[in-house]
Amino acid sequence: MTQVETARGPVDVARLGTTFMHEHVFVLNEEIRQNYPADWDEEERVADAVAKLNALKQRGCDTIVDPTVIGLGRDIHRIQRVAAGTDINIVVATGLYTYGDLPFYFRYRGMERESAGSDPMTALFVSDLTEGIAGTGVKAAFLKCAIEDHGLTPGVERVLRAVGAAHAATGAPITVHTHPGSSSGREAMRVLTSEGVDLTKVVMGHSGDSADLGYLTTLADAGCLLGMDRFGLDILLPFEQRVDTVAELARRGYADRMVLSHDASCYIDWFPQEAIPAFAPAWHYGHLFDDVLPALRERGVTEAQIETMLVTNPRRYFSGPSGA
Ligand SMILES: [Zn+2]
Repeated sequence: MTQVETARGPVDVARLGTTFMHEHVFVLNEEIRQNYPADWDEEERVADAVAKLNALKQRGCDTIVDPTVIGLGRDIHRIQRVAAGTDINIVVATGLYTYGDLPFYFRYRGMERESAGSDPMTALFVSDLTEGIAGTGVKAAFLKCAIEDHGLTPGVERVLRAVGAAHAATGAPITVHTHPGSSSGREAMRVLTSEGVDLTKVVMGHSGDSADLGYLTTLADAGCLLGMDRFGLDILLPFEQRVDTVAELARRGYADRMVLSHDASCYIDWFPQEAIPAFAPAWHYGHLFDDVLPALRERGVTEAQIETMLVTNPRRYFSGPSGA
Protein backbone atom coordinates (compact mmCIF):
# COMPACT_ATOMS: atom_id res chain seq x y z
CA MET A 1 0.00 0.00 0.00
CA THR A 2 1.33 3.41 -0.96
CA GLN A 3 1.84 5.79 1.91
CA VAL A 4 1.43 9.56 2.01
CA GLU A 5 3.49 11.78 4.27
CA THR A 6 1.55 14.01 6.68
CA ALA A 7 2.50 16.32 9.55
CA ARG A 8 2.14 13.30 11.88
CA GLY A 9 4.03 10.90 9.63
CA PRO A 10 3.05 8.51 6.84
CA VAL A 11 -0.51 7.22 6.40
CA ASP A 12 -1.83 4.70 3.87
CA VAL A 13 -3.40 6.45 0.88
CA ALA A 14 -6.53 4.38 1.52
CA ARG A 15 -6.88 6.23 4.84
CA LEU A 16 -6.87 9.76 3.41
CA GLY A 17 -10.67 9.56 3.19
CA THR A 18 -12.55 12.73 2.35
CA THR A 19 -9.85 15.15 1.27
CA PHE A 20 -9.99 18.89 0.72
CA MET A 21 -7.18 19.41 -1.75
CA HIS A 22 -6.30 23.06 -1.13
CA GLU A 23 -6.69 24.49 2.37
CA HIS A 24 -4.16 26.46 4.38
CA VAL A 25 -3.67 26.39 8.12
CA PHE A 26 -1.74 29.68 8.36
CA VAL A 27 -0.86 32.17 5.65
CA LEU A 28 1.59 34.73 6.99
CA ASN A 29 4.44 37.00 6.23
CA GLU A 30 6.79 35.58 8.85
CA GLU A 31 9.20 38.52 8.70
CA ILE A 32 6.41 41.00 9.37
CA ARG A 33 4.97 38.78 12.09
CA GLN A 34 8.33 38.64 13.86
CA ASN A 35 8.94 42.38 13.60
CA TYR A 36 5.41 43.57 14.33
CA PRO A 37 4.11 40.89 16.66
CA ALA A 38 1.22 42.89 18.14
CA ASP A 39 -1.42 41.02 16.13
CA TRP A 40 -0.06 37.58 16.91
CA ASP A 41 -0.51 35.35 19.95
CA GLU A 42 1.11 32.00 19.20
CA GLU A 43 -0.85 29.98 21.78
CA GLU A 44 -4.15 31.53 20.79
CA ARG A 45 -3.54 30.96 17.08
CA VAL A 46 -2.51 27.31 17.55
CA ALA A 47 -5.54 26.64 19.78
CA ASP A 48 -7.84 28.36 17.26
CA ALA A 49 -6.45 26.24 14.41
CA VAL A 50 -6.91 23.04 16.42
CA ALA A 51 -10.52 23.99 17.18
CA LYS A 52 -11.31 24.85 13.54
CA LEU A 53 -9.71 21.65 12.21
CA ASN A 54 -11.44 19.51 14.84
CA ALA A 55 -14.75 21.04 13.80
CA LEU A 56 -13.95 20.23 10.17
CA LYS A 57 -13.05 16.63 11.05
CA GLN A 58 -16.35 16.39 12.93
CA ARG A 59 -18.17 17.41 9.76
CA GLY A 60 -16.57 14.54 7.83
CA CYS A 61 -13.32 15.82 6.31
CA ASP A 62 -10.42 13.46 7.06
CA THR A 63 -7.53 15.21 5.31
CA ILE A 64 -6.52 18.70 4.26
CA VAL A 65 -3.80 19.26 1.69
CA ASP A 66 -1.96 22.45 2.65
CA PRO A 67 0.05 24.13 -0.12
CA THR A 68 1.70 26.67 2.18
CA VAL A 69 5.29 27.02 0.99
CA ILE A 70 8.10 29.60 1.04
CA GLY A 71 6.45 32.93 0.28
CA LEU A 72 3.33 32.05 2.30
CA GLY A 73 4.98 31.69 5.71
CA ARG A 74 5.53 27.94 5.99
CA ASP A 75 6.50 26.93 9.56
CA ILE A 76 6.36 23.16 9.99
CA HIS A 77 7.12 23.33 13.73
CA ARG A 78 3.90 25.31 14.17
CA ILE A 79 1.98 22.89 11.91
CA GLN A 80 3.26 19.97 14.00
CA ARG A 81 1.83 21.60 17.13
CA VAL A 82 -1.55 21.95 15.41
CA ALA A 83 -1.42 18.41 14.01
CA ALA A 84 -0.75 17.03 17.49
CA GLY A 85 -4.08 18.48 18.65
CA THR A 86 -6.33 17.15 15.89
CA ASP A 87 -7.12 13.84 14.21
CA ILE A 88 -7.37 15.42 10.78
CA ASN A 89 -4.47 14.61 8.43
CA ILE A 90 -2.47 17.64 7.31
CA VAL A 91 -0.45 17.00 4.14
CA VAL A 92 2.33 19.57 3.73
CA ALA A 93 4.09 20.95 0.67
CA THR A 94 7.41 22.15 -0.65
CA GLY A 95 7.98 24.72 -3.35
CA LEU A 96 7.89 28.47 -3.72
CA TYR A 97 5.07 30.97 -4.09
CA THR A 98 5.74 34.01 -6.23
CA TYR A 99 3.91 35.82 -9.03
CA GLY A 100 7.06 37.57 -10.22
CA ASP A 101 10.52 37.70 -8.70
CA LEU A 102 12.42 35.12 -6.68
CA PRO A 103 13.54 35.87 -3.15
CA PHE A 104 17.06 37.37 -3.35
CA TYR A 105 18.34 34.23 -1.63
CA PHE A 106 17.68 32.32 -4.84
CA ARG A 107 18.27 35.10 -7.33
CA TYR A 108 22.05 34.91 -7.09
CA ARG A 109 22.29 31.21 -6.42
CA GLY A 110 22.20 28.80 -9.33
CA MET A 111 23.09 31.32 -12.02
CA GLU A 112 25.61 28.78 -13.32
CA ARG A 113 22.97 26.00 -13.52
CA GLU A 114 22.83 24.01 -16.73
CA SER A 115 19.33 22.67 -16.25
CA ALA A 116 16.47 22.84 -13.76
CA GLY A 117 17.88 19.67 -12.22
CA SER A 118 21.00 21.54 -11.11
CA ASP A 119 19.10 24.55 -9.77
CA PRO A 120 19.82 24.75 -6.01
CA MET A 121 16.07 25.22 -5.47
CA THR A 122 15.46 21.75 -6.88
CA ALA A 123 17.80 20.16 -4.33
CA LEU A 124 15.96 21.92 -1.47
CA PHE A 125 12.57 20.76 -2.75
CA VAL A 126 13.83 17.17 -3.16
CA SER A 127 15.30 17.24 0.34
CA ASP A 128 11.95 18.40 1.80
CA LEU A 129 10.27 15.46 0.02
CA THR A 130 12.82 12.77 0.84
CA GLU A 131 14.64 13.83 4.06
CA GLY A 132 12.10 16.07 5.77
CA ILE A 133 11.66 19.76 6.49
CA ALA A 134 13.84 21.86 8.79
CA GLY A 135 14.89 19.02 11.06
CA THR A 136 11.29 18.11 11.99
CA GLY A 137 11.29 14.77 10.21
CA VAL A 138 8.02 15.87 8.56
CA LYS A 139 8.23 15.25 4.84
CA ALA A 140 6.45 17.21 2.14
CA ALA A 141 4.16 15.05 -0.01
CA PHE A 142 3.73 17.41 -2.96
CA LEU A 143 5.14 20.42 -4.78
CA LYS A 144 3.65 23.89 -5.17
CA CYS A 145 4.35 26.70 -7.61
CA ALA A 146 2.39 29.66 -9.00
CA ILE A 147 1.77 31.46 -12.28
CA GLU A 148 -0.55 34.46 -12.03
CA ASP A 149 -1.67 37.11 -14.50
CA HIS A 150 1.91 38.43 -14.57
CA GLY A 151 2.58 35.36 -16.73
CA LEU A 152 5.83 33.48 -17.11
CA THR A 153 8.31 35.93 -15.57
CA PRO A 154 11.94 34.71 -15.32
CA GLY A 155 11.42 34.04 -11.60
CA VAL A 156 8.17 32.12 -12.12
CA GLU A 157 9.73 30.07 -14.91
CA ARG A 158 12.66 29.10 -12.68
CA VAL A 159 10.27 27.90 -9.95
CA LEU A 160 8.07 25.98 -12.40
CA ARG A 161 11.10 24.26 -13.91
CA ALA A 162 12.63 23.45 -10.50
CA VAL A 163 9.28 22.02 -9.37
CA GLY A 164 9.12 19.99 -12.59
CA ALA A 165 12.64 18.69 -12.04
CA ALA A 166 11.87 17.76 -8.41
CA HIS A 167 8.76 15.91 -9.62
CA ALA A 168 10.83 14.07 -12.24
CA ALA A 169 13.33 13.07 -9.54
CA THR A 170 10.83 11.95 -6.90
CA GLY A 171 7.42 11.38 -8.55
CA ALA A 172 5.83 13.80 -6.08
CA PRO A 173 2.62 15.38 -7.42
CA ILE A 174 2.26 19.10 -8.08
CA THR A 175 -0.25 21.85 -7.34
CA VAL A 176 0.00 25.02 -9.41
CA HIS A 177 -1.65 28.27 -8.36
CA THR A 178 -3.05 29.45 -11.69
CA HIS A 179 -5.02 32.48 -12.89
CA PRO A 180 -7.65 31.15 -15.29
CA GLY A 181 -8.60 34.70 -16.33
CA SER A 182 -5.30 34.85 -18.21
CA SER A 183 -5.34 31.11 -19.05
CA SER A 184 -2.09 30.74 -17.14
CA GLY A 185 -2.77 27.02 -16.69
CA ARG A 186 -1.93 26.50 -20.37
CA GLU A 187 1.51 28.06 -19.88
CA ALA A 188 2.08 25.99 -16.73
CA MET A 189 1.17 22.86 -18.67
CA ARG A 190 3.65 23.72 -21.45
CA VAL A 191 6.56 24.40 -19.08
CA LEU A 192 5.90 21.41 -16.81
CA THR A 193 5.53 19.07 -19.79
CA SER A 194 8.88 20.24 -21.12
CA GLU A 195 10.42 19.19 -17.77
CA GLY A 196 8.93 15.70 -18.17
CA VAL A 197 6.02 16.11 -15.75
CA ASP A 198 3.17 13.58 -15.79
CA LEU A 199 0.14 15.88 -16.08
CA THR A 200 -2.13 13.38 -14.30
CA LYS A 201 -0.09 14.31 -11.21
CA VAL A 202 -0.85 18.04 -11.53
CA VAL A 203 -3.68 19.98 -9.90
CA MET A 204 -4.37 23.18 -11.82
CA GLY A 205 -5.29 25.16 -8.75
CA HIS A 206 -8.00 27.82 -8.82
CA SER A 207 -9.48 26.50 -12.07
CA GLY A 208 -12.79 26.91 -10.23
CA ASP A 209 -12.42 30.69 -10.59
CA SER A 210 -13.43 30.15 -14.23
CA ALA A 211 -16.67 29.11 -15.93
CA ASP A 212 -14.92 28.83 -19.32
CA LEU A 213 -15.65 25.22 -20.20
CA GLY A 214 -13.38 25.33 -23.27
CA TYR A 215 -10.36 26.32 -21.18
CA LEU A 216 -11.20 23.89 -18.38
CA THR A 217 -11.75 20.88 -20.64
CA THR A 218 -8.48 21.60 -22.48
CA LEU A 219 -6.60 21.21 -19.18
CA ALA A 220 -8.64 18.18 -18.12
CA ASP A 221 -8.30 16.46 -21.52
CA ALA A 222 -4.52 16.80 -21.18
CA GLY A 223 -4.81 14.81 -17.93
CA CYS A 224 -4.68 17.56 -15.32
CA LEU A 225 -6.90 17.67 -12.26
CA LEU A 226 -8.95 20.87 -12.07
CA GLY A 227 -8.76 22.52 -8.67
CA MET A 228 -12.36 23.65 -8.06
CA ASP A 229 -10.82 24.92 -4.90
CA ARG A 230 -11.97 28.44 -4.08
CA PHE A 231 -15.52 27.85 -2.93
CA GLY A 232 -16.43 30.81 -0.77
CA LEU A 233 -14.38 33.32 -2.75
CA ASP A 234 -17.55 34.41 -4.50
CA ILE A 235 -16.04 37.82 -5.03
CA LEU A 236 -13.89 36.18 -7.76
CA LEU A 237 -16.69 34.05 -9.26
CA PRO A 238 -20.23 33.88 -7.86
CA PHE A 239 -21.38 30.75 -6.04
CA GLU A 240 -24.01 29.84 -8.66
CA GLN A 241 -21.45 29.86 -11.46
CA ARG A 242 -19.00 27.82 -9.41
CA VAL A 243 -21.50 25.04 -8.72
CA ASP A 244 -23.03 25.19 -12.22
CA THR A 245 -19.57 24.70 -13.72
CA VAL A 246 -18.74 21.69 -11.54
CA ALA A 247 -22.17 20.17 -12.25
CA GLU A 248 -21.83 20.66 -16.01
CA LEU A 249 -18.32 19.18 -16.08
CA ALA A 250 -19.55 16.21 -14.02
CA ARG A 251 -22.43 15.77 -16.48
CA ARG A 252 -19.90 15.71 -19.34
CA GLY A 253 -17.91 12.96 -17.62
CA TYR A 254 -15.18 15.00 -15.93
CA ALA A 255 -15.83 14.05 -12.28
CA ASP A 256 -12.57 12.10 -12.35
CA ARG A 257 -10.74 15.33 -13.27
CA MET A 258 -11.94 17.62 -10.46
CA VAL A 259 -11.10 18.15 -6.79
CA LEU A 260 -13.01 20.37 -4.38
CA SER A 261 -11.78 22.82 -1.73
CA HIS A 262 -11.99 26.39 -0.40
CA ASP A 263 -8.43 27.80 -0.29
CA ALA A 264 -9.46 28.92 3.20
CA SER A 265 -7.19 29.24 6.26
CA CYS A 266 -7.45 29.27 10.01
CA TYR A 267 -5.63 32.57 9.87
CA ILE A 268 -4.41 34.68 6.95
CA ASP A 269 -2.63 37.99 7.49
CA TRP A 270 -3.34 39.34 4.00
CA PHE A 271 -6.45 41.11 5.25
CA PRO A 272 -7.55 42.70 8.53
CA GLN A 273 -9.34 39.83 10.30
CA GLU A 274 -12.62 41.72 10.63
CA ALA A 275 -12.69 42.41 6.87
CA ILE A 276 -12.89 38.76 5.79
CA PRO A 277 -16.50 37.99 6.82
CA ALA A 278 -17.54 41.25 5.12
CA PHE A 279 -16.08 40.50 1.67
CA ALA A 280 -16.28 36.68 1.72
CA PRO A 281 -18.83 35.49 4.30
CA ALA A 282 -18.83 31.90 3.00
CA TRP A 283 -15.03 31.57 2.85
CA HIS A 284 -14.51 28.99 5.59
CA TYR A 285 -13.94 25.25 5.92
CA GLY A 286 -17.66 24.44 6.41
CA HIS A 287 -18.95 25.90 3.13
CA LEU A 288 -18.57 22.70 1.07
CA PHE A 289 -20.66 20.71 3.55
CA ASP A 290 -23.13 23.53 4.28
CA ASP A 291 -23.83 24.83 0.79
CA VAL A 292 -21.75 23.43 -2.07
CA LEU A 293 -22.49 19.69 -1.86
CA PRO A 294 -26.26 20.27 -1.43
CA ALA A 295 -26.21 22.61 -4.45
CA LEU A 296 -24.31 20.05 -6.53
CA ARG A 297 -26.82 17.33 -5.58
CA GLU A 298 -29.68 19.65 -6.58
CA ARG A 299 -28.02 20.01 -9.97
CA GLY A 300 -27.87 16.25 -10.50
CA VAL A 301 -24.34 15.48 -9.33
CA THR A 302 -24.45 11.94 -7.93
CA GLU A 303 -23.07 10.64 -4.64
CA ALA A 304 -20.62 8.53 -6.65
CA GLN A 305 -19.34 11.63 -8.48
CA ILE A 306 -18.97 13.50 -5.18
CA GLU A 307 -16.99 10.60 -3.76
CA THR A 308 -14.82 10.59 -6.89
CA MET A 309 -13.97 14.28 -6.41
CA LEU A 310 -13.45 14.16 -2.64
CA VAL A 311 -11.94 10.70 -2.10
CA THR A 312 -10.89 8.81 -5.24
CA ASN A 313 -9.12 11.62 -7.12
CA PRO A 314 -7.02 12.72 -4.11
CA ARG A 315 -6.09 9.09 -3.43
CA ARG A 316 -5.04 8.56 -7.08
CA TYR A 317 -3.04 11.83 -7.03
CA PHE A 318 -1.02 10.65 -4.01
CA SER A 319 -0.69 7.05 -5.23
CA GLY A 320 2.59 7.33 -7.08
CA PRO A 321 3.14 7.09 -10.85
CA SER A 322 -0.07 7.14 -12.92
CA GLY A 323 -1.55 3.72 -13.38
CA ALA A 324 -0.46 2.75 -9.86
ZN1 LIG B 1 -3.91 28.74 -1.60
